[in-house]
Amino acid sequence: MGKKAKFLFFNCSEAATCCDKAQYEEANLFEKAKLMLHLAFCKTCRKFSARNSRLTHLMKESKLETCPEEKKKQWREEIKKEFAEERS
Ligand SMILES: [Zn+2]
Repeated sequence: MGKKAKFLFFNCSEAATCCDKAQYEEANLFEKAKLMLHLAFCKTCRKFSARNSRLTHLMKESKLETCPEEKKKQWREEIKKEFAEERS
């Protein structure tokens, strides 16, 4: 992949990180655009993204946003771990 393409495309691990950030409204517009681009051609990350969305939805549904940051972080790590295992 050329320098220009590398600038435009996320690899899977960058996409996962950005997906996380986007979920918590921490990603900027450019990062979100790159994430969308990656999700357009990467099935694995689409699956990860969908699962991540479900979790956020679940957290909102159960009003768990009041739970400690530490707990949320733990959940995010668990999802990442599961995702990594699936791919290996
Ligand atoms: Zn990917």
